[in-house]
Amino acid sequence: MKTPKTIVFLALATSLISCNKSDSTITSTNNNNSSTTVAVPAVYSKIYGATSITNDGTYITIKTKNLPDHKSTYYPTSNALYEAYTGTTFGGYTFNKNPNSILEQAATIKIPVNPKLNTAHAATPLGPIGVSLNGVVFFNQYAGPNQPLSGEIVSFDKYYGHPQQSGMYHYHVEPIYLTTVKSTKSGLMGFLLDGFPVYGPQEEDGTLVTNSMMDDYHGHTHKTVDYPNGIYHYHFTNESPYLNGSGFYGTPGTITQ
Ligand SMILES: [Zn+2]
Ligand SMILES: [Zn+2]
Repeated sequence: MKTPKTIVFLALATSLISCNKSDSTITSTNNNNSSTTVAVPAVYSKIYGATSITNDGTYITIKTKNLPDHKSTYYPTSNALYEAYTGTTFGGYTFNKNPNSILEQAATIKIPVNPKLNTAHAATPLGPIGVSLNGVVFFNQYAGPNQPLSGEIVSFDKYYGHPQQSGMYHYHVEPIYLTTVKSTKSGLMGFLLDGFPVYGPQEEDGTLVTNSMMDDYHGHTHKTVDYPNGIYHYHFTNESPYLNGSGFYGTPGTITQ
């Protein structure tokens, strides 16, 4: 009677050991892929310019080289996307090139996967405040501390972006390559760091969005094609503050460069 019990025990123990082995194999495979076990919601796959997009269940992590996929007079002349530009830019101003050139960046942007209202409404920082579909970052409505953007607008290129001193290309206003070539005037343009989406200057029914339709943070809530249950979202408008007003609607994630 005793012998069979021992055999059963040994068999059970062996089976437990083998379970542990297979569990650790699964874990190590995930680490090797440096990916997560949580699927990335489809809406984020619209960020076609990202080098990687992952989801840890709390944050979506977007990595980008921040290189526009359209022509720009700010690319070095040796770059295939360099194109000389003269003419007018946003607001009808005559284009006046700034001294900077586009340089590859290594930005890691973490945004909440479930964005939520935060009544503290943290002010947007100078520098990147979000990311667009082509992987280029968004900046706010200021050129510097308490400096209006007005003096910088003349240096927006054909597609209304420009690089700052360290070569980081960015959009303060409607990214017209996205609204006219890659998407539409009412399409998703990207996300701010608080995880709330950014839309173009029109609603899906063609209505031009004006500042008077926006709250203090330059957004409002309704259904969109990407969010059939409705979501708070920002819009680009043609008037200052263009993208964001008096701070984030939600709690911003982080950007590291
Ligand atoms: Zn700028
Ligand atoms: Zn809207």
